[in-house]
Amino acid sequence: MKLDEVKAIVTGAGSGMGRAFALGLASAGAQVVVADVSMDGIRETLDEGAGLPGKLFPCEADVSSEESVRAMIERAAADMGGLNALVNNAGIFRDGLLVKVDKQTGKVSGAMSLENWNKVLAVDLTGPFLCTREFARQVIDSGTKSSVVINISSVSRAGNRGQSNYSAAKAGLVADTKLWAEELARYGIRVGAVAPGFIQTPILDGMRPDMLEAMVSQVPLRRTGTPHEIFQGVKFILECDYFTGRCLDIDGGLHV
Ligand code: NAP
Repeated sequence: MKLDEVKAIVTGAGSGMGRAFALGLASAGAQVVVADVSMDGIRETLDEGAGLPGKLFPCEADVSSEESVRAMIERAAADMGGLNALVNNAGIFRDGLLVKVDKQTGKVSGAMSLENWNKVLAVDLTGPFLCTREFARQVIDSGTKSSVVINISSVSRAGNRGQSNYSAAKAGLVADTKLWAEELARYGIRVGAVAPGFIQTPILDGMRPDMLEAMVSQVPLRRTGTPHEIFQGVKFILECDYFTGRCLDIDGGLHV
């Protein structure tokens, strides 16, 4: 697919990597729907993208709501005169150990709440499921010949301590990347994933410097990645018409 022919929705594009993807695509002449729960973030992305060769459209949407996702897909197709790409990027985390044991008493003093389990699964796994299902419905029904879905997973999909919810969602997303690729190939829909390591976005800005330093010391390349380096993976999946059903690890060589 040529980038200047892309008509994409990028979810979570009001911040971090999603913003970088939207701006990167618009720089290459693509049309992009900037979808996010936060209207402030959407406005900032649109302001940053003013004057780029492509076109950016705002869309307030919650990927965990079926109604909101349906409205987003319908509006995106109307705004851009069609739709041929989806980047499932919106994601949250609510970390915590499965159970926390008090060192003094040896008894369980805390645990990951069901609420935090459900919240992360709703945005990070149910969200991509709803968006991909409605995207597939739209492109198939409209007779679009070729289209691409890109799922943003994480290095944590291998199972990262303190992330029962997030690791499960991001692993599930890679499993679905493979099976959606198989189910949807006959309709001209390719599906790929990118699994980033530690990337410099607002998520990392909130971390304690000593914790961040300890994390970075585990990365063979000894630094965090940039949103642009992850965009290079997104761009590759869009452009390479023989890529489907696989996950690109862009993580500086990190294993969790
Ligand atoms: P970010 O800066 O927090 O951006 C995520 C965006 O998604 C935010 O604007 C957020 O809005 C939005 N969002 C949250 N819930 C949503 C919902 N229900 N519907 C629509 N939008 C929603 O995060 P990031 O670091 O760029 O991460 C982007 C993706 O990469 C995520 O899937 C993340 O899990 C993944 N990832 C990140 C890293 C990393 O090191 N940064 C590493 C591996 C994978 P609010 O801010 O209002 O919540």
